[in-house]
Amino acid sequence: MRTNTEEIINGVYLIGGPGITSADDAAIYLIDFVGELVLIDAGAGRSSSQIVRNIEMLGFNPAAISNLMLTHCHIDHIGSAPFFKKQYGTKILIHELDAGAVETGDSRKTAANWYGTIFPPTAVDQKLKGEHETLKFSQEELHCLHTPGHTPGSISLYLDRAGKRVLFGQDIHGPFHKDFNSDIEAWKKSMQVLLALNADILCEGHFGIFQPKESVRAYIERYLDEYE
Ligand SMILES: [Zn+2]
Ligand SMILES: [Zn+2]
Repeated sequence: MRTNTEEIINGVYLIGGPGITSADDAAIYLIDFVGELVLIDAGAGRSSSQIVRNIEMLGFNPAAISNLMLTHCHIDHIGSAPFFKKQYGTKILIHELDAGAVETGDSRKTAANWYGTIFPPTAVDQKLKGEHETLKFSQEELHCLHTPGHTPGSISLYLDRAGKRVLFGQDIHGPFHKDFNSDIEAWKKSMQVLLALNADILCEGHFGIFQPKESVRAYIERYLDEYE
């Protein structure tokens, strides 16, 4: 069977999203920390078995996923979170300001109503707080930056590996909507924080993977120009 998963750099994979799992899934990334796996986002919820198959086809056991990092509370990013938690005991992490929508299954804040689906209330195992939290896996650090704007509790993550800085910025382009409690001024500040990281690779949520550095910068600046 074919799969369109892709290794971005050593042990960092794109395993889900349009053309890989389902058209309504935002991008799903998997990081291998010497056998301990971390998943970043979880699609819209209709492709759980395909996500599992993709992980297995890369030679990994989904039960080795210790943490599922949710970049924000929207259904196209959180959909299979309940599945992973139930099936494998995966720990769910999200910023405290977006945790409520996941825990209550709020159909407006999760945008489940836009997708004609529901998201079951799901307990969060760890709420990220403040501007910057660092999680340690093996000898490496996964940085979680609070980058509000699209939603109040949006986070972006980055990892330094193999001489490259990899930034996971799922919905940093927006959109901005009152149903999401979006805040464009907060978003502008968040984008400056991301520009200052000088990332080599941007793993984005809906538009693909951007590299090198200049392309990452250009991508972020293009959106900033739009909301000047
Ligand atoms: Zn979103
Ligand atoms: Zn999205």
